[in-house]
Amino acid sequence: MKYNFIKKAFFPLIFVVTGHFSLAQGYWQQRVEYKMDVDFDVQNHQFQGSQSLKYTNNSPDTLYNVFYHLYFNAFQPESMMDVRSRTIEDPDGRVTDRIQKLDNSQVGYHKINELKQDGSDVDFIIEGTVIEVDLLKPILPGLSTTFSMTFESQVPIQIRRSGRNNKEGIDYSMAQWFPKLAEYDERGWHAHPYIGREFYAPWGDYEVNLTIDRDYVVAATGVLQNPNEIGYGYEDAGTEVKRKGKTLTWKFKAENVHDFVWAADPDYKHVVTDVPGGPVLHFFYQESPETKEWEKLPELSVKAFQYIEKNFGEYPFPHYSIIQGGDGGMEYPMATLITGHRSLRSLVGVTVHEALHSWYQGLLATNESYYAWMDEGYTSYASALTMMHLFGEEGEKVDWFNNGSYRGYYALVKSGKEEPMSTHSDTYETNSAYSRAAYSKGAVSIAQLGYIIGEEARNKTLLRYFNEWKFKHPDLNDFVRVAEKTSGLELDWYYDYWVNSTKTIDYGVGKVEEFDGNVLVEVVREGALPMPLDIVVTFKDGSKKSYYAPLSIMRGEKPNENELDRVVLPDWKWTHPTYNFQIEGDMDNIQSIEIDDTGLLADVNRENNTWTNK
Ligand SMILES: [Zn+2]
Repeated sequence: MKYNFIKKAFFPLIFVVTGHFSLAQGYWQQRVEYKMDVDFDVQNHQFQGSQSLKYTNNSPDTLYNVFYHLYFNAFQPESMMDVRSRTIEDPDGRVTDRIQKLDNSQVGYHKINELKQDGSDVDFIIEGTVIEVDLLKPILPGLSTTFSMTFESQVPIQIRRSGRNNKEGIDYSMAQWFPKLAEYDERGWHAHPYIGREFYAPWGDYEVNLTIDRDYVVAATGVLQNPNEIGYGYEDAGTEVKRKGKTLTWKFKAENVHDFVWAADPDYKHVVTDVPGGPVLHFFYQESPETKEWEKLPELSVKAFQYIEKNFGEYPFPHYSIIQGGDGGMEYPMATLITGHRSLRSLVGVTVHEALHSWYQGLLATNESYYAWMDEGYTSYASALTMMHLFGEEGEKVDWFNNGSYRGYYALVKSGKEEPMSTHSDTYETNSAYSRAAYSKGAVSIAQLGYIIGEEARNKTLLRYFNEWKFKHPDLNDFVRVAEKTSGLELDWYYDYWVNSTKTIDYGVGKVEEFDGNVLVEVVREGALPMPLDIVVTFKDGSKKSYYAPLSIMRGEKPNENELDRVVLPDWKWTHPTYNFQIEGDMDNIQSIEIDDTGLLADVNRENNTWTNK
């Protein structure tokens, strides 16, 4: 009796304690397995859904609640998204007051008919775009539970990203279209109301069966399982077979993704091309004079994928679909929705940008609410390089950045509306401060990292970051650690300033005087943000020499990647507003002294960067 008691009571205890201990040691992430059946009615734009969701709690915590997102509920008058769109100083032109004007047949909604945990009804309440669920039984660390749900939904008129009848006549752009479990991570639950921006969700597998009118062509995340059954040559575009029955069920499977998008239109043309050694690319668009540039898109997309895979990491999924739909360009796993009436440059630009989100968001799934700049900024940076590879001239790199991301960042600083990039994406005071921070300042962060640690170390950092953190939810610290380990330099200071503050860089050349037969140069830090400096001295005979002043807080120097001779000066301590160094020889020999001749240092005032000998 006693023996049995001990066995029963203590064995599980020991197990739980050890399990808890080992889980707390390292990284963990939750896991989902969705199975959904959707019965879609194209007459009234509504659908019935049933969803089975196996949820595995890999956290060290016992969970007593779970939360789901109901994104379509945002498309109703007086929703948080509607009010936010009408009250923000600079509303998104695609939204403005359009939600307020929707009538009952045009709004979006999800109604939950039934929600069970392991077969028994659970209590839940719906609060706008979020379901709060009180679990029947808590989910212990390491254990799984299965939720089953039936729901009915109406697809809203397309306002933002998702919806029906987009402005180019695509019937259904189905993003954020199903009740979706919120993510739980080391910061807890992320059940933010949907007010128009940013997504974050658990990794897992999706099986989605979509039953829809047989005249429709469906494009989606994942791999179509039954091309023969539906009589549609998915692998073999163009060989459409006559279909039978009023509806068809399209069966898709996607493994190890964190979202599922689909789109449907009766007039989609479907083109397929292979990236040699890479994924199959699918293009879905309506043929019209406005989409004639799509004919050139497959070839350029193959070239883009080859360049991206070589420089930023291998694309691990079998397919990627470029789908005409939505309201601009938005990334989803294995697919993107883009508007298609574009010039060639714009069409390729948006395709490259959204495809690159497969790396920075699709695979490196940072929480967009907190690290939108790691998605948009890194994507913008890599897009600029890819577009240069496709369209640019050699040696154009610096101009490309200065004309884009750097200029956007300088405009943001000048506007006086800059907020720290650590601001939650939904809570920026203005849309423009959000987008310039996320896209421009985010891209500059990575271009400028090359200035700090060297381009080779920066490029290696990006690849290593991808290989170590793909299929996970990295945050800023994870990226910084990779950059530090790759470069051997301390970099926390850079991100403390660049991300958590709006402090700016401004250096100038101060006094230049002869001293003891040499030239003494004073450099002045005018801005609060300290940086290592490359100072290029041009001599009257046309020769140049580089003087490099590292920061003491870097604990090291970047390698010399410049073809110029480089003098490594003593460390500059950030507390010191001025810094002096000496150039050997006569003042008369010097033509000019310039701080950063590359343009990669985001110095907000370049007027004081150059001293010229007159
Ligand atoms: Zn983007």
